Amino acid sequence: MFADLSLDQRLLKAVDKMGFESPTPVQQQAIPLALQGRDLLVNAATGSGKTAAFLLPILQSLITKKGERTGTRALVLVPTRELARQIGKECEKLGSYCGLKVGVITGGQEFKVQRALLRRDPEILIATPGRTLELVKEGSTLFSNLEHLVLDEADRLFEMGFSEDVLAIIATCNEARQTMLLSATLPAGVRRLLQVLNGPVRVQINSAREQHESIRQQYILADDDKHKEKLLLWLLEHESFERALVFCNTRDQATHLCGVMRYRDQRAGYLHGEVKQDVRNATITAFREGKLKVLIASDVASRGLDVKGIDLVINFDMARKGDDYVHRIGRTGRAGEEGLAVALIGPQEWNLKASIERYLNVQLESRRIKELPGTYKGPKKLKASGKAASTAKRKKPEGGKSKSRPKSKSGSRPAPGGTPA
Ligand code: AMP
Repeated sequence: MFADLSLDQRLLKAVDKMGFESPTPVQQQAIPLALQGRDLLVNAATGSGKTAAFLLPILQSLITKKGERTGTRALVLVPTRELARQIGKECEKLGSYCGLKVGVITGGQEFKVQRALLRRDPEILIATPGRTLELVKEGSTLFSNLEHLVLDEADRLFEMGFSEDVLAIIATCNEARQTMLLSATLPAGVRRLLQVLNGPVRVQINSAREQHESIRQQYILADDDKHKEKLLLWLLEHESFERALVFCNTRDQATHLCGVMRYRDQRAGYLHGEVKQDVRNATITAFREGKLKVLIASDVASRGLDVKGIDLVINFDMARKGDDYVHRIGRTGRAGEEGLAVALIGPQEWNLKASIERYLNVQLESRRIKELPGTYKGPKKLKASGKAASTAKRKKPEGGKSKSRPKSKSGSRPAPGGTPA
């Protein structure tokens, strides 16, 4: 129960209005520690309820303590504009009875509008690092009285190259602040950011596998992109779902697929890094409102997308890394809902699938679509790691000394598992 977390009545009222019945595991663990003023290192993925886990204790602290009335009191740094806006909205809802001002600062907006916003002195700022640093440098905002700092999705902040900006912003922050760092994964790069924490308590929410227990994870073998297109269409036509999110690795692929799906009467839209902000917002709104049922996106474009009722995630291209896979499938099965994640695996993607399974300690369930059989049946032999074992016979090097692999006439390497190239 939220009432057991010693939260102020104003916050309990807001939580109730938002329809949250009981705290999620990350909220249960993080809120009491954060209320004690401890620094936190939270390992929790998107969909775990991590936003309220840091916002509720911050809001509580801001309404119960009298702060200095100049400058920001709480700063939340996030990797993308989308996420900033979403957290801004969640903060306004959670704080709707608190009478605090919330400002969202991201790139792609006019400086003069942002300067005006900062002059109103919002207690809470949700911001992306690049623009924030520019505003700090020109003196439009000040963090010398900062009481709470949050680095959300720190793995993405690092991956998107924001570490230096983040550290430069932190250098201007009040040292006697509380800092919370949240990250789905802890790759080496994020460890550099850990230095900004002061005696942190670690909150770890299960493994990636346990977090995604409510998501059925499947894979379907595919011969090539054309075969994948047919499989995708079949899934969209036969699965029952409210909203589907389809991932590809390139923006051309996203645009192309969207065209193909629209031609086949699917209500589809696409998002990638080059889509203009207003078009992007309109697409997300249409998806949220149900005017679009299918959204085709790249990893970056999907960051921070928090649309309820995404119950089908299709990896048209397999994610390139385990962490990306976790973020992708985390879009479904959010806060207790059920979800289905299907990966379409071509001959070149088998080993990627195997390493992701190994990394996450999960086994994707094999699925076949009877109506769309392919010729690719997976590797003939597997290594213990689950990767394809090469079955190509190696010729003994002539002269017996050289250990190098003999080159085929075309110079190409044998396909994984000796499957026909
Ligand atoms: P997050 O992991 O913070 O992105 O949250 C994922 C979704 O779960 C958001 O739509 C939240 O509004 C929602 N949520 C957060 N906490 C709870 C809760 N205790 N009960 C139900 N939904 C929640």
